[in-house]
Amino acid sequence: MLVDPAGRKFSYLRLSITDVCNFKCVYCLPDGYQCDHDRDFLSLNEISNTIKAFAHHGISKLRITGGEPTLRKDFIDVIRAAKDTQGITKIAATTNGYSMHKHINNWVDAGLNAINVSIDTLDPRMFNTITGHDKFSRVMQGIESALESGIESVKINSVLMKQYNGRELDSFLDYLKHRPVTMRFIELMQTNDNKSFFDANHISGQSIKEQLLRDGWQPIIRDVTAGPAQEFFHPDYMGKIGLIMPYSNDFCNTCNRLRISSLGKLHLCLFSEQGISLREYMSDNTNQALINQLARYIKTKKPTHLLHQGNTGVTTNLSMLGG
Ligand code: SAM
Ligand code: SF4
Repeated sequence: MLVDPAGRKFSYLRLSITDVCNFKCVYCLPDGYQCDHDRDFLSLNEISNTIKAFAHHGISKLRITGGEPTLRKDFIDVIRAAKDTQGITKIAATTNGYSMHKHINNWVDAGLNAINVSIDTLDPRMFNTITGHDKFSRVMQGIESALESGIESVKINSVLMKQYNGRELDSFLDYLKHRPVTMRFIELMQTNDNKSFFDANHISGQSIKEQLLRDGWQPIIRDVTAGPAQEFFHPDYMGKIGLIMPYSNDFCNTCNRLRISSLGKLHLCLFSEQGISLREYMSDNTNQALINQLARYIKTKKPTHLLHQGNTGVTTNLSMLGG
């Protein structure tokens, strides 16, 4: 297994397959995706080799992310490549959900086990304001299709923002009452691009945690491949709640995940100082060099990010790496 100097073991890979996105979320790409030249994203063969190299090191959970990963024409082939990799037991994807209502059954048939969908509000007009797109009902229809598809897990990601959805906790709780969905509230993170937005909108997840505990929500014990969320259940609700609080002091202690960007860089942390380019090793189908490089670089992982000091590393926005 990959083990870093702090003794943390890594079982979870987040693989970004594109930076491109069709939404303009206010905290991520407020001006939409900008690119003045073609970007050479990882090929299916490079993706497949990369997943195999990580699986060789004991990674069992894969999250396919972006940008908007479902914009890639070969998105389903990426799922299949993961499914065909020995050792990968859980395949998840994160999406803005815009095409889920049409394709979810095919993705599940190809091997997708879990889907996370970003929905920051249950108010259609606010959805339009946040994402720049009038697609609320289509995305919600996608959630219902996902629930009917038999997929193991459906989660909704919602970034907490004072000026946008800061008063919506009760409507989200109503939504969860009769739906087997996990609602994950994510603390807004500062990136190189969103400093003033961050200052105006950051809400600490701690206040939500205190309210949930007061209202009878109970903590769930963490699984080894679990993501970064602290999860809670309530006997009166079908749904669960997860809180992702990257600014909490012990957030990095349970880090079990590594990231590969869509251009083939290894990011040891979402907010690392630099990405390490491993692309030259990704087209070699024997994979030995890539396997060796992963073993080498894990020894350089730092114990914690420096977000508290406002140091966001190289991360301009999260569409670069997929969160
Ligand atoms: N496009 C897909 C989506 O929106 O789900 C996948 C990529 S997106 C970068 C992954 C997750 O990161 C989404 O849930 C999004 O809300 C979250 N995210 C983006 N920027 C963020 C920020 N500055 N702080 C916290 N979460 C952020
Ligand atoms: Fe696109 Fe996801 Fe960023 Fe929104 S959060 S702009 S959907 S990459």
